[in-house]
Amino acid sequence: MTLPTADFRSDTVTRPTPAMRAAMLHAAVGDDVYGDDPTVNALQSRLAADLGFEAGLFVASGTQSNLIALMAHCQRGDEYLVGADAHTYKYEGGGAAVLGSIQPQPIPQAADGTLPLEAVGAAIKPDDPHFARSRVLCLENTWHGKPLPLAYAPDARALCDERGLALHLDGARLFNAAVAQGVPVRTLVAPFHSVSVCLSKGLGAPVGSVLLGSAELIARGKRLKKLLGGGWRQAGMLAAAALHALDHHVERLADDHRRARVLAEGLAAIAGLAVETPQTNLVFVTVPEAALPRLRATLHEYGIIASVGGPRVRLATHLDIDDAAVARAVAAFSAAMR
Ligand SMILES: *Cc1c(COP(=O)(O)O)cnc(C)c1O
Repeated sequence: MTLPTADFRSDTVTRPTPAMRAAMLHAAVGDDVYGDDPTVNALQSRLAADLGFEAGLFVASGTQSNLIALMAHCQRGDEYLVGADAHTYKYEGGGAAVLGSIQPQPIPQAADGTLPLEAVGAAIKPDDPHFARSRVLCLENTWHGKPLPLAYAPDARALCDERGLALHLDGARLFNAAVAQGVPVRTLVAPFHSVSVCLSKGLGAPVGSVLLGSAELIARGKRLKKLLGGGWRQAGMLAAAALHALDHHVERLADDHRRARVLAEGLAAIAGLAVETPQTNLVFVTVPEAALPRLRATLHEYGIIASVGGPRVRLATHLDIDDAAVARAVAAFSAAMR
């Protein structure tokens, strides 16, 4: 008997649904470099309006979106303050430094993903030729599957206003935070000058992120997008997938969160595993080092795809993970630990 495979590595592995593919097929398109693609324009203005910003820019990836934001906020020799374990600092190839000549100032994060504001305040440089110019504070929501505490971003904004910094949000999984906290996305992003949102994570579109900000920031962003090789032509087919995701895949994130809880509870009942209670769609489970080789083999046997690099394993629930896949993952871990 061959089992269907279930891929828990990331919420980026989803394939477009038949309905999403139909929307892509029938999308009206034009040359986006000329600003002619009606579907791209519709996506940009819709997200901007929904989230309370003047303008939006549809780009190829979250990495490109964050990089464009940082380069639009900063000049050479400026710096951005960022979590030491934040995606923008750690997992984006050092792009801000490599391509923007923007120095990162990493700040150790608290367990909830926040950057303690005393530490941020202390790291902001005075105006002195010895120092880089502190220009932007960059936050992430969700961080490692945790929504930022609701009171935090407004406090961070107050500090930024006081010290003359811009506030950027890497909101790759912003919609997961909004659904988990039962708060409108618009409220979550109100304190920020710019926000990057991924359509290709839990929302299930094949490609793309949108950067939101003031008309002026997005105008600079457009120039940077072209400079970075991100100008694209009939991208409306991708924007159509993104619009479909916004229409049909937001509320269902609650299903992913429920399945993550079921998965975590199932794993927590297995002797030898330490499981962190998930708040959204990411489950972290720590497996004894000695059990890793057997776990890898057993997961394979059960058709479960997971990244088992070391003892702390991240499992993501998403559009293509159903209740049966969750049950099979629990059974596989159970068999491996027996
Ligand atoms: C995935 C991700 C990104 C980058 O998105 P890509 O589209 O993979 O470049 C940025 N930030 C966070 C928190 C992410 O999870």
